[in-house]
Amino acid sequence: MKKLKVKDFGMPAEKLTSLDLEDFKPLPPPYDKWEDLPPFPKLEDKVKETYECSLDDTIAIVLPQPKTKEEEQELVRKFLSGLEKLFTKENNWTFLQPLTLSMEHCAKCQTCSDACHVYESSGNNDLYRPSFRSDVLRRIYFKYLKPGGKFYGKWSQGDIDLNWKTVARLAELAYRCNLCRRCAQTCPLGLDNGLITHEIRKIFSQEMGIVPKELHERGSVLQLKVGSSTGMNAEVVKDNIEFIDEDMADKTGMTVQTPWDKEGADILLIHNAGEIMAWPENPGAFAVIFEAAGLSWTLSSDIVAYDAINYGLWYDDTMLAKVAIKHAEAAKKLKVKKIVLGECGHAHKALTVIADRVLPGDLRVPRESAMTILEEIVFSGRIKFDPSRNDFPVTLHDPCNMVRLMGIVEPQRKVVRHLCPQFREMTPHGVENYCCGGGSGFAIMSPYNFGPWRFNVSGRKKFEQILNAFSDDLSPETHKYVCAPCSNCKGQIRDFLAYFDAFEKCGILYGGLVELIVNAMTDVKPGFIEWEWH
Ligand code: SF4
Ligand code: SF4
Repeated sequence: MKKLKVKDFGMPAEKLTSLDLEDFKPLPPPYDKWEDLPPFPKLEDKVKETYECSLDDTIAIVLPQPKTKEEEQELVRKFLSGLEKLFTKENNWTFLQPLTLSMEHCAKCQTCSDACHVYESSGNNDLYRPSFRSDVLRRIYFKYLKPGGKFYGKWSQGDIDLNWKTVARLAELAYRCNLCRRCAQTCPLGLDNGLITHEIRKIFSQEMGIVPKELHERGSVLQLKVGSSTGMNAEVVKDNIEFIDEDMADKTGMTVQTPWDKEGADILLIHNAGEIMAWPENPGAFAVIFEAAGLSWTLSSDIVAYDAINYGLWYDDTMLAKVAIKHAEAAKKLKVKKIVLGECGHAHKALTVIADRVLPGDLRVPRESAMTILEEIVFSGRIKFDPSRNDFPVTLHDPCNMVRLMGIVEPQRKVVRHLCPQFREMTPHGVENYCCGGGSGFAIMSPYNFGPWRFNVSGRKKFEQILNAFSDDLSPETHKYVCAPCSNCKGQIRDFLAYFDAFEKCGILYGGLVELIVNAMTDVKPGFIEWEWH
């Protein structure tokens, strides 16, 4: 693999680096033979002619090539004007201070590189160093924004050419990072390369309208228009939940009826609506547990309030604020005591720590994670459990947003330790965890060969951790369970397990936390978890 330097970033080249399967970090058995692994597909020439593909061997944002020189210059101008806004208090009061610190104080020690799963899994490809992306922005910032930068910038930070290629490559490179902040955790100066990536995404979205369709048009925009990024309106969601309740009653032998729009309930529960479509047993299991525990709870049929997703967290502060306000307004309207977030990590962070910076005072409804509520229920004695029903190997994935970035580490662990006799941790875990590789929106993005990129590169470390956690018996006959209490992580884990055929080859299935809880309830018919691939 060729060494890559930051100054090469704006140079003419068909692409800056290429991805070859054999450069990636090897996986443990039974995936240790390159010839048995799926090949990494190359982009077709037609795609390369139409879209900007000059970064690596893949594309995430599918950016059309500008047609004229003028168009290129206009895009560079807009980028610079967006960069300028990023460093003003009026335009970026949410993140200006940590951004400025991160931009101005890097010691170039590279401690952050060792922490990054994308860099490690790629076989230490320079392009994916956490600080590489930041250095590109840093050089532009020092050269074009700082007084006297054209002269002093290149001496203090190193030079860079700013042209359309630099801008377009930076847009793509902002989507080679999971925003997991593992690098920020290890930086001796507390600098946050994840935040810098987030801010780069903001320039492209807020100032240039450049953003992956999956996050914006089919994500936030659809959610604000219809009510959910799944495209479901309230009537469709209610029909689905009614069907799920019936199914749960059949499976468990219990009465299950999800309450809707119950004014004055203690809890407004908000699920990631993707669960309702892809994993109905998850909202179903929540209903079984909440009803069995006798909680006062409700769902809301107000637009947006039945879908916890808030993709703005990953790319656009204005979209984040619009969705967070709708969630809080629905809770106010129902006069609930608090909002509880279901199994969705990014929704946790968006509606708690980030929304704290954007919600006006009267909309600051108390908000809580489902993890703490579930812990409280499991240890309250209100429901009886038989852990021997969960007597199969279980490991726990730590969703970055919930665990490293919010500190919700123990509640879910206490539950699995209590209910799963064969529980084993991944190494490392807790706040030291590795991202599933689907973070920051990747789990729902698969244009062209970006899917294989997120399985082979960003998801590789998590797959390695899962294989290692179950290495005592990887035979397909022994069923194993990866507990991932986050909808996006679950989607990414499902996709890479399918890509590597890990259910057939190693008997590895995945699911949420509530499914394990219901599976161990003595009042429920045995066999709630079905060992079938889905
Ligand atoms: S660890 Fe911190 S100071 Fe060192 S290179 Fe990374 S961001 Fe810069
Ligand atoms: S935020 Fe995560 S994925 Fe992004 S550079 Fe840092 S460690 Fe790597």
